[in-house]
Amino acid sequence: MLNKKAIKEKLEKERDLLVGELKGMGKLNTETKEWEATPEELEVPEVDQNNMADRFEDFEAKSSTIKVLESRLNSILGALNNLSKESFGKCVVCKKDIEISRLEANPAATTCMEHIES
Ligand SMILES: [Zn+2]
Repeated sequence: MLNKKAIKEKLEKERDLLVGELKGMGKLNTETKEWEATPEELEVPEVDQNNMADRFEDFEAKSSTIKVLESRLNSILGALNNLSKESFGKCVVCKKDIEISRLEANPAATTCMEHIES
């Protein structure tokens, strides 16, 4: 039997964790609804070239991490949204029930084991 309440709690916990991590690296752009890396404050008065390059690399690394976290967050938000629907736990390909073990491991899953690659 699928325990939706437990899955919901797990999703919410993971969502809070991800939001916490995102907040540590960037901020949510309220217009685009996308997370953006925050560049570090430039120190005054002098900034040498190496420093600038480091900063840029940092920013790039942060941006790509944020993209990964953000897409995970979006699938969790989608799963939370789906949880209340009749179709939750059904494979989007074959419409059969998704294996419970799979849902427990990844509540954001939208396909059964057989259709993972689809
Ligand atoms: Zn399927």
